[in-house]
Amino acid sequence: MDEELGQRGKETTCELCSLELDRVSEVESLTERDIGLLRQPRRRVNVSIPVRMDDGTVEHFPSFRIQYNGSRGPTKGGIRYHPGVDEDEVDELAFLMTLKCAVAGLPFGGAKGGVQVDPEELSEGELERLSRAYVDEYHDVIGPQKDIPAPDVNTNAKVMGWMMDEYESVAGERAPGVITGKPPEIGGSEGREYATSLGGAVVLDEFVEYEGMGEELDVAIQGMGNVGSYLAEFLDERGYNVVAVSDSSGGVYDGDGIDVPAMVDEYRESGDLDGFGDAVTNDELLTLDVDVLVPAAIEDQITDENVDEVRADAVLEMANGPTTPSADERLSERGVPVVPDILANAGGVTVSYFEWVQNEANEYWLETKVNEKLAEQMRGAFRGIRSVKQNGDLTWRSAAYVHGVNTVLDAEAHRGNVSR
Ligand code: NAD
Repeated sequence: MDEELGQRGKETTCELCSLELDRVSEVESLTERDIGLLRQPRRRVNVSIPVRMDDGTVEHFPSFRIQYNGSRGPTKGGIRYHPGVDEDEVDELAFLMTLKCAVAGLPFGGAKGGVQVDPEELSEGELERLSRAYVDEYHDVIGPQKDIPAPDVNTNAKVMGWMMDEYESVAGERAPGVITGKPPEIGGSEGREYATSLGGAVVLDEFVEYEGMGEELDVAIQGMGNVGSYLAEFLDERGYNVVAVSDSSGGVYDGDGIDVPAMVDEYRESGDLDGFGDAVTNDELLTLDVDVLVPAAIEDQITDENVDEVRADAVLEMANGPTTPSADERLSERGVPVVPDILANAGGVTVSYFEWVQNEANEYWLETKVNEKLAEQMRGAFRGIRSVKQNGDLTWRSAAYVHGVNTVLDAEAHRGNVSR
């Protein structure tokens, strides 16, 4: 049977997922059957979506929905609109969503979707027709108890609203739980906008206490988008000293601490960071001598090229995949702890789960309730990983992956699919 699974896996394996599983196998014994089950998604669907353009022609957009593992519940993951998105990328992201939901303790599996399109080249009407057509094509495989999409790169609450509306039209019934990240007026949750950042702040508090790092820590944040800007505010409120921030055009540094409320107000208004400290480039920000470095922008920022110059005592990964695997290894050799993305930024999917719970129960939760439950869930996630780390003398990332993989395999075992 093992051989059979291995054989089947060979044709459809997710290469990057296999690499991650091999890394987990180095510290945790996994059988061939365990790995065979997880190194490929349970279901891949792809459709070339026809869309009527404004000039009357029809264009076809390659698209994907990949449901990686649903042993813990309906699968969950965003839909990405990007010209470069492909099946390999969506496979890997769906695998990471599976682990993220598991480490966050959510009763969801992992999935991801994508459409090969540059949304900037579409009119608003074309974007809406594409989004509705995506739902028409994937209607049979998504649903509140099957697979629940959400926003991702280049998709937002507006797109989710169109998608929910389309799903309900085809289904002929209300089904707000089919999608999360909706506008609050049609079933979106309070607190979703800043949930990723609040979750990250709670995790950082726990981490700092565990590591005994002290108070008034200096923090540098790369990225002033949704995640970075709210995080700066939460950390400032909690007594951290935010000394540097940046966006794609560069940043500012003030060793005495940036006036965060004024900076965020100004930045949201004008997109300008000038005047809040000395100018720094993104490369300089990443190598500042701070207590905590927070990459909160895009992937592959701490790499072989700059890792030896990183002087922070710890890294909190708010972006997805900001540290390359070899740079990560180097940091761990140097004893610099990295709080991995699947833990640090799991606050977003956690409040997406709360949104789904409210939709399914036809409930409305006040912001304070959402935030309290989020903090509780994130503390639980941190502590689960902390105990795996302590028991196995692992890095935070290894502990998170081991915990995620074991949690999924335990669910598979209860379904009779593997022995544990
Ligand atoms: P965003 O688009 O709102 O902001 C991105 C920020 O990064 C912007 O300030 C942009 O100027 C900056 N940036 C872009 N390229 C850069 C570069 N080369 N150097 C420095 N800065 C650069 O995105 P976001 O929603 O804040 O997401 C940020 C990261 O967090 C992404 O990796 C995303 O996948 C991850 N994430 C977001 C959420 C969420 O809820 N928004 C949840 C989980 C993970």
